[in-house]
Amino acid sequence: LYGDQRRNSDGVEFGCAAERTDLTQSMAKTQAPFTKAGPLGKGLEADGETHPVFSPIDGTTQVGTVVLASEAAAQQAVENAKKGFEAWSRRPVQDRAAALEKAADLLEANTGRLMQILSMEAGKCLTDGIAEIREAVDFCRYYANEARTHFGEGQLMPGPTGEENRYRYRGRGVFVCISPWNFPLAIYLGQISAALLAGNAVVAKPAEQTPLIAYETAKLLYEAGVPEDAFYMVPGEGDIGAALTSHPGIAGVAFTGSTETAWAINRTLAAKRGPIVPLVAETGGINAMLVDATALPEQVCDDVMMSAFRSAGQRCSALRLLYVQDDVADHLLKMLSGAAKELALGDPRLPSTDIGPVIDEEARDGIVSHIDDMKGSQTLRFAGETPAGALANGYWVAPHIIELDHAGALTREVFGPVLHLVRYKAREIDTVLDQIASTGYGLTLGVHSRIDATVKKVVDRLSVGNVYVNRNTIGAVVGTQPFGGSGLSGTGPKAGGPAYLTRFALEQVVSINT
Ligand code: GLU
Repeated sequence: LYGDQRRNSDGVEFGCAAERTDLTQSMAKTQAPFTKAGPLGKGLEADGETHPVFSPIDGTTQVGTVVLASEAAAQQAVENAKKGFEAWSRRPVQDRAAALEKAADLLEANTGRLMQILSMEAGKCLTDGIAEIREAVDFCRYYANEARTHFGEGQLMPGPTGEENRYRYRGRGVFVCISPWNFPLAIYLGQISAALLAGNAVVAKPAEQTPLIAYETAKLLYEAGVPEDAFYMVPGEGDIGAALTSHPGIAGVAFTGSTETAWAINRTLAAKRGPIVPLVAETGGINAMLVDATALPEQVCDDVMMSAFRSAGQRCSALRLLYVQDDVADHLLKMLSGAAKELALGDPRLPSTDIGPVIDEEARDGIVSHIDDMKGSQTLRFAGETPAGALANGYWVAPHIIELDHAGALTREVFGPVLHLVRYKAREIDTVLDQIASTGYGLTLGVHSRIDATVKKVVDRLSVGNVYVNRNTIGAVVGTQPFGGSGLSGTGPKAGGPAYLTRFALEQVVSINT
């Protein structure tokens, strides 16, 4: 991409016994409770309530403690960051890029520790956690490379003799970054690294469920050379997000989370007098996949398992609604149920585990109540089992497959391992595409077909951000599959893509009469 010379991070080769052992051993060096997290940044006091953080794996192991920021501390962070911005934004882009590249190296060097925290605090399985650490590393290096290429001296524009016209990007000011618990490292750091590299100071509010990994990562950023007055972290709940977004001194907001919250942030920003502040929002989706009678069933089965159930379905890219051509539906349902039965739920730190817990009690109860509602009116095709014994009190939701009598029965995004399936007839494909479009979301879409014309029709008809053909629909790779949607799914630009950094920047043109 545009002269991108990097390589993505190597991660861990799980097929290699030595690498697996290395990982397990380095994880074991980090034992719970890990850390006491709290507000970070120059001149900021830890002044809010203190809470224990418990693991979703068993609901009882304490993984650490968090001191929340007060609203006053959050506002103070913005004020302090405004001062930090002055020096950071004037630093040569090479310096900023070097700091974020150093951070990437530190993340790789701390893989075992970070993985242990991701598992214990966020319930991440090994493959998911390692992929997440890699993604965080890749974001830092990719955006550093983009900044070096496009955020230096600027670009000379054509113009008349005797006049020099230079187009350049510069930081906007203090960027607020509000990130979700489902990628508490990669999305958290993706937003922060982009904002910092574009020349902004940052005040970040990590998700309330995952302050520990955010805190550990913040400390690595400082170690890498990001100044303590250019980056602030304020752990807290929704009130802290609101205190940040309503502050008159902010210059931009990056948010990943629910569409509802994105609307609320938009309203807050719109209600302020003063500069018009941009919002970069990445929200949810009711992601669909179409499978026609020409698709390869074994491939479909693998891809659906991964797309719907990996990370316990807690990805905004996850598959929610599977449309299957009726001729192959019974056969495929049998295969899917058989494959889902093989998925192992359990301690996410074990290599044999496929699905860990969901993030917390509230999430578990919400998903379970959706399943209960569906059971009343739709057809349950498969229900897995949750772990017993020592893990019984963790927040488990087993994989479920529910057949709907019509697609409209699913009206909202359910953030868990629940796959909804609906049958369609070959002649109804246009209606299916209309239905998908009518949800208003546009994040990921899968198509399994070996008819080129069908694939083309689906891809052209729907304005979905990431379309995957004859493969799974999750795990977008930085620099290869820039990620993000449209409509109710977000504003763009795509994370890990060539346009991302520019949305965090101001454009300036300097015209000099020479
Ligand atoms: N980028 C992730 C993926 O492709 C999803 C991000 C999210 O869930 O917010 O699976």
